[in-house]
Amino acid sequence: MIALNQLEVWLVTGSQHLYGQKTLDQVASHSKEIAAVFDAASEIPVRVVCKPTGTGSSEIHKICKDANSAKNCIGIITWMHTFSPAKMWIHGLQELRKPLLHLHTQYNKEIPWDDIDMDFMNLNQSAHGDREFGHIMARMRMNRKVVVGHWQDPKTVSNIAGWTRVAAAWADSQDMLIVRFGDQMNNVAVTDGDKVEAERVFGYHVDYCPISELVKAQDEVTNFDVAELVKVYESEYDLADNCREGGKDRGQIVMAARIEIALRRLLEAKGAKAFTTNFDDLEGIDQLPGLASQRLMAEGYGFGAEGDWKTAALCRTMWYMGIGLPNGCSFLEDYTLNFDGENSSILQAHMLEVCPLIADHKPKLEVHPLGIGGKNDPARLVFTSKKGSGVAATIIDMGSRFRMIINRVDCIESKALPKLPVASALWIPQPNFEIGAAAWILAGGTHHTSFSYDLTVENLLDFAEMAGVEAVVIDEDTTIPEFKKELKWNDLYYHLAKGL
Ligand code: MN
Repeated sequence: MIALNQLEVWLVTGSQHLYGQKTLDQVASHSKEIAAVFDAASEIPVRVVCKPTGTGSSEIHKICKDANSAKNCIGIITWMHTFSPAKMWIHGLQELRKPLLHLHTQYNKEIPWDDIDMDFMNLNQSAHGDREFGHIMARMRMNRKVVVGHWQDPKTVSNIAGWTRVAAAWADSQDMLIVRFGDQMNNVAVTDGDKVEAERVFGYHVDYCPISELVKAQDEVTNFDVAELVKVYESEYDLADNCREGGKDRGQIVMAARIEIALRRLLEAKGAKAFTTNFDDLEGIDQLPGLASQRLMAEGYGFGAEGDWKTAALCRTMWYMGIGLPNGCSFLEDYTLNFDGENSSILQAHMLEVCPLIADHKPKLEVHPLGIGGKNDPARLVFTSKKGSGVAATIIDMGSRFRMIINRVDCIESKALPKLPVASALWIPQPNFEIGAAAWILAGGTHHTSFSYDLTVENLLDFAEMAGVEAVVIDEDTTIPEFKKELKWNDLYYHLAKGL
């Protein structure tokens, strides 16, 4: 089980020796107090640790180097309580390899109009100190997040909390292994891409695994283990009549359990965080591992169908960002369109592999034929998704760079699909069906997406910024003429940036 509270962000406060030891003592004590408040905030899922005040170049350099090498440190929060001349920060910031959040706050909340004096002013200087610090990072072209707000304001805590989730997912991506059973589906362009560059940019490492390894693992699963897992299915899902004990497709449920156990063991043994399958590459496997993929996704394994390793990786990243949040995430595919005037929408589903974390009711476990892949009838969980808004995202390879596309979407009430036994969601992309879908197509977005109810556009933008990749947002403010211009400008910017 992954525990975000084993991870840390460090609060690094900047100052200098100009004001005397008494002021520095106060700075240190205030920093400790603020770090303790953040550390105790339930919304912030990681630990917040106060570090010694940075007052000189060599100690700041050391803190940054320590942050780089501390495995559980996922980023630093910097705050200039007093004026900290920013040349002192250059060497440290040049060294820093972890994400940085610049917090523009002040210990004192409101100006004490009647009592304010020079002692107060020697202490509460972040108004100008944080600008000096911001300047050097702007000059160094550093990617970072700036959060402005009083440290006791719940909005400030919330902004920091969101960023820590992203920084944690960024750390998780640095050693992410994505296992591919089979290759891409032949001839498909959008799910393919540069795996070497993906490792350099995101940390995503993609390995091929022959399906024969899964066959071997499957043969090693005992009947006892299979029976135990089938009991879990019976307790967690409503089984269709043909799947119950004595039902004609009971054997397919038992087989699905065997595949699931084998797949989980194999992924665990390899230390993989995500995987892909390909329905064309299942020699020795009874059925497409639909149920296994659904259940493994719910445990945090990223998944991409048809060899789509970029979506598998992003699914894992988005699941990780949302650990402990209530509404869930899933791999999805733009399945079919529903033209219905103002309520025109896109059915989101897949042949089998939709994560039950997004279900709005107890899933039904069913077995039906699948007219693709030439295998036996696969088991799958069938459900419709919760209503509510969320965010869909993808990473595509533009040839010379990666682009993340982020779309706010609203999941609406869906209808039963009595003859299409798949799990599904039904959404209207923002700002509306026509503009949302057109913008996604203009940006070159995949038909596969990673979707979350719990994350925000800002979370994904923060992630793209940590990776240093292009990101475009399709939301309530999107217009096609402006979006087209943005795509063109981005081409120019990334072409020039490559030459820097
Ligand atoms: Mn697909």
